[in-house]
Amino acid sequence: ATMPPLLSAIANAGRHGVLVKSAVVMERLGQVDTVALDKTGTLTEGTPRVTDIHPLAGSGLDEDALLSLAAAAERPSEHPLARAVVDAARSRDLSVPEMRDFTSTPGVGVTASVHGASIAIGAPSRLSDARDDPAAVHASAVAAALEDGGRTAVIVRRDGLPVGVLGVSDRLRPDAATTVAGLAALTGRGPVLLTGDNPRAAARLAAEVGISDVRAELLPQHKVSAVKELEKAGRRVLVVGDGVNDAPALAAAHTGIAMGRAGSDLALETADAVIVRDELATVPAVVNLSRAARRLVV
Ligand code: ADP
Ligand code: MG
Repeated sequence: ATMPPLLSAIANAGRHGVLVKSAVVMERLGQVDTVALDKTGTLTEGTPRVTDIHPLAGSGLDEDALLSLAAAAERPSEHPLARAVVDAARSRDLSVPEMRDFTSTPGVGVTASVHGASIAIGAPSRLSDARDDPAAVHASAVAAALEDGGRTAVIVRRDGLPVGVLGVSDRLRPDAATTVAGLAALTGRGPVLLTGDNPRAAARLAAEVGISDVRAELLPQHKVSAVKELEKAGRRVLVVGDGVNDAPALAAAHTGIAMGRAGSDLALETADAVIVRDELATVPAVVNLSRAARRLVV
């Protein structure tokens, strides 16, 4: 017997390095008319590097001490930023202290107890520091300068007070701009960028890849609202993401695709399809495969 078109399309997608989980998903991919892309790990490679280490005056920390403290708290996290911090400490051969009571909040950051102190690391915008606290004012200024340079800044706090700022930067995927252009051509409208990162770094990257609709500083539930709003307006949205923070949006969207290599387990399980070979350009390719198969089905 010849294989039904949607099943051969699944086999074909597999040859492109995309695992499509069912025939229903294969069919839905061809229906999408709007694509929402995550930034870190999706448009970027997801292997960021620590580029800047700023211990704050009065913290008693030097660069190495700040980095090893941050690495201790980040060690259990699977977030790309956390891996960057741990790798930076490792490449300096720092000894990383034990930690306890790790917690992680998607889109916000992590907390842990290190040497009896409570350490919190996360986005500057998510910190509720007293505005007149000099350390907090200084930390925000350092973070803003890093963000203006296109970096992602995270603030390290010890017992509630900022002790340092780290700057992290990730490379754009080589096929990011061509994928954005390909998706725009396929759907007739440019993709939307949905990111938890700061607006400055987001705008800079969006300009580089040719995205004009940018939504930044989104918590996981805000990514869901953005998708639902588009779908309420009649759109069929394809979400492409990699993180734990993308999982709710991957589930809420008409169709969700996860980046397989650096993607979190939750994103891989939640998504309808997984990019196994780590090439973003396979997204427009599978949409095309679906459309071709649907023409044969109908
Ligand atoms: P994106 O949507 O770009 O993939 P996320 O929603 O995962 O970004 O993260 C948004 C922001 O939350 C990050 O830019 C960072 O400031 C903060 N954050 C998230 N996880 C961590 C972590 N493990 N350590 C430090 N900061 C984090
Ligand atoms: Mg991400």
